[in-house]
Amino acid sequence: GPLDRRMEPTDKSLTCPRSPEPLQTCAGHFGYLKLTLPVFHQGYFKAIITILSCICKSCSRVLLDPDNYSSALSFMRRVQDDHLRRAAKLRAITEECKKISVCPRCGACNGPIKKIPAGGSRYLMLIHDKFAKHEEQKLEFHSMLAAEDKSFSLTKRSQDMKQAIGKAAQDLDPLTVLDMFQRIPDEDVEILNMRPEHSRPEELIITHLPVPPCCIRPSVAMGVGAGSNEDDLTVILSE
Ligand SMILES: [Zn+2]
Ligand SMILES: [Zn+2]
Repeated sequence: GPLDRRMEPTDKSLTCPRSPEPLQTCAGHFGYLKLTLPVFHQGYFKAIITILSCICKSCSRVLLDPDNYSSALSFMRRVQDDHLRRAAKLRAITEECKKISVCPRCGACNGPIKKIPAGGSRYLMLIHDKFAKHEEQKLEFHSMLAAEDKSFSLTKRSQDMKQAIGKAAQDLDPLTVLDMFQRIPDEDVEILNMRPEHSRPEELIITHLPVPPCCIRPSVAMGVGAGSNEDDLTVILSE
């Protein structure tokens, strides 16, 4: 929890379990909270959309055909330090992948990634317009949904979900994307201008929240005679 003893020894008779320094100088340590569900970080949104545009939403492989795939991989391996050229290459790969509507590996339909406002435009939701270039499959999907609708009531789903389903689009919630990214093979991660030994796409999705030690959280005055109490951060992190 936010007041975990491992983060800061509140009782000075205890030894700090996290470092060998004397208790008087130990300022506490950063901890973390594991989130029940992963979330998108707004700052990584663009990078996440780029990766989603490049990979098959069914098998997680880069959408390039075999020839372009091997030339892209050898480019990324050959040009190690020229960041501008690597970034330009990734842009070219992204544009190429956006044109591909059938995965050359598994044959699944792929379409554009779209941002749609949700929760009264308080946040953005990502959807995959899977059948954008496949009218026939879209109609098939719709009739399948209509049949399903009779047995399952969709009324319990949120309005946003209903809209997405109505458009035969796939909802790309953070958990779905995390799973997709974890299944990208290392070779394909290299093509996406990342070095799999240092960083992988799934690290762009937040699964843990850092928790600062008590001493650097702002303290809140509680009014006359009450002194200061646990700060807002502690309260928010407890929720
Ligand atoms: Zn310590
Ligand atoms: Zn595929």
